[in-house]
This record gives sequence, C-alpha cells and structure tokens, in this order.
Amino acid sequence: MADDVLVDIRGLKKYFPLRKGLSGFSPLKVKAVDGVDLQIRRGECFGLVGESGSGKSTIGRCILNLVRPTAGLIRFGDKIIFSDGGLRSGGLKSGGIHLSYKEMLPLRRDMQIIFQDPTASLDPRMRIGEIVAEGIKKHRIVSGADIEKKTGDVLELCGISRDLSSRRPGEFSGGQKQRIGIARALALNPRFIVADEPLSALDVSVQSQILNLMGDLRRTLGLTFLFISHDLRTVEYFCDRIGVLYLGALTETGSSADIIDKPLHPYTRALFSSIPRDNPGVKRRRIQLKGEIPSAINAPPGCKFHPRCLHAVDLCAQKTPVLEDAEPGHQVACHRWRELAAAVNGETAALGI
Ligand code: SF4
Repeated sequence: MADDVLVDIRGLKKYFPLRKGLSGFSPLKVKAVDGVDLQIRRGECFGLVGESGSGKSTIGRCILNLVRPTAGLIRFGDKIIFSDGGLRSGGLKSGGIHLSYKEMLPLRRDMQIIFQDPTASLDPRMRIGEIVAEGIKKHRIVSGADIEKKTGDVLELCGISRDLSSRRPGEFSGGQKQRIGIARALALNPRFIVADEPLSALDVSVQSQILNLMGDLRRTLGLTFLFISHDLRTVEYFCDRIGVLYLGALTETGSSADIIDKPLHPYTRALFSSIPRDNPGVKRRRIQLKGEIPSAINAPPGCKFHPRCLHAVDLCAQKTPVLEDAEPGHQVACHRWRELAAAVNGETAALGI
C-alpha cells in the first residue's frame, strides 16, 4: 500500500440477511456493498455519490467498524480493521481479522463521523459542553481542568461560543447543532472523518456555512474526509476525487475534474448531466435515466446498470465489467467505455467545442 493512502479497501462486501416472518431468515440477502476497491489518500476529500440505496453509507459504517463486513479487507493506516482472511495484504496472508470493541478504541479517536441529522444525533437531555467533553474524557485526550478548556476551544473552533456550553441542543438551530456535532467529532483530534450526508437535513441557507466550516477545518487540521452525498454540486465543490456507486459497486472513480467534465460511464454521464456548467464552453445534454434503481436483493446479472443503460448490448447482461484504468487516476467499469468516449469526442468536435 502506498504511504500516502490512509484508508485502503479491497473487495469489500456487505450483505444483510432478510428476515422471513418470525421463523428466521430468508436465503435472500440485500447486497448493500458488493465488491468495492477504494483508496483514500491522506489529506484528501473523497466523495462517494450515487442514488439512495447504492451503498454509500454502508461503506462509511464498515470503515468505522460500526457494521461488520461480509467479506474483503479494510486497512486504516498500518492497522487492519477487517479481513476475511482470503486476501493478501503486503504479500502476507493476513488471516481473518475483525477488531473487537476494545481493540477498536485507540482507532476510534482517529476516525470520527459527522451524522446526517444533528437533531437525532445529539442527546437532548445533555448540555452541549457535556456532549463534547464525553469523548475527551473517555479517550483521555486531556484531564482535569484542561477538559473544560479543550471543550470550549473546540466549540469555538466550530463557531459556537464557549459561553453557551451549559445550554442543551434544543436551544440551537439546525446549523448550530451540526456545528456542535462537528465539535464533538473534532474533540478527539481525529485524522479521518466520515461525513455522511452532513448537509441534507439543513436549510439551504446554512448548508454553505457548514461546508465552508468543514473546508476550513480540513485545511487547518489536515483532515482526511470521506464525504458521502447525493448532492452532486456539493461534491463537486468539496471533493478532490469522486467514486460513483451503483447498486453497491463502483462504476467510475477519478479526480473531480475527470468525473464531472469527462465522465466515461453512462451512469456517471446521466447523473452529472443534471448539473448546469458554469463554463459556457462546456455544453451538456441532460440525460434522463429510464426506470428506477433495481432492488439490491435481486440485482440484474452482468452489468447491474444494463436494464437502464441506453447503450447496453447483449454482452452487458452476461458479463460483469470490472474497474479498469482509462487514464492515470481515472477508472471505469463499462464494456463499451472506449467507443462511447470516442462517440462523445466526435459529437463535441462536430459542435466545435
Ligand atoms: Fe451500459 Fe453495458 Fe457499459 Fe453497463 S457495461 S454501462 S450496460 S454499456
């Protein structure tokens, strides 16, 4: 694994069993994540996008060990968090590993989460100072009188006056509650943050303020982010690289510029075609996807996107495409990406763009 990689995911799968009445479990499974390879570099913001049910949040929760994967390997820095034992890591057979709660504790302070709904994630009975100080005490970040100082410092870093420490979450607006949630995460001096749809429960008017706060914190503290969102404009603004998920599998990964301005996968093209470009030189036709995303219980064979793809051929229903390098740092999983890219380039040339 390259030194600059902080989070390394190989062949990650997470299948959820389906309940069958009161009698037990059905043999059917929800394949929420179905074979994902992903590397997040130190200091970068990696955006995961896709429709609801594509597996974005499940990947974040697997990395944080809040959900136990079904198969694959997850490494954080030089520590393996999960391995099914079937993969080789650094040339060594790693063996089956799943860290216990106690074994995860030292890593917990390094990796934190910002939740989607700040109201639901903050205990309404606690004072906000207690909420932020809880982790500081548990992980012994500082002790004694320094706990109060650290709590106040981190609240103010997130734009909440330390004088408000004795108030309860119900006395704050949605945007302020999200600032408190961010302060709680930062109180442990983490290196890595999973931001799971951190703006979607907020008013549009405060979304940009929270986004700017996260950007400032990222720069000043050198944080690494996994930014999960269905808001493509936000991802474009905040993320260095983007991974596009469809039914638990990556269809394309690359720099934000590559994914947004030179998408290769038909699904990526359709997703981002809805975003108007600021650059008047880049013309884009809106592509309307047909149908709904199929169920993750009974995903289509071959390319999972084929029932909705405007370019599907027989091969697409028979063979699963794998992620391959289209150019350095840009991967795509589509049998026809070369000919489709050539067609797009021809169309662009014909338009004189
Ligand atoms: Fe479409 Fe086939 Fe490519 Fe899948 S592999 S995106 S169905 S052209």
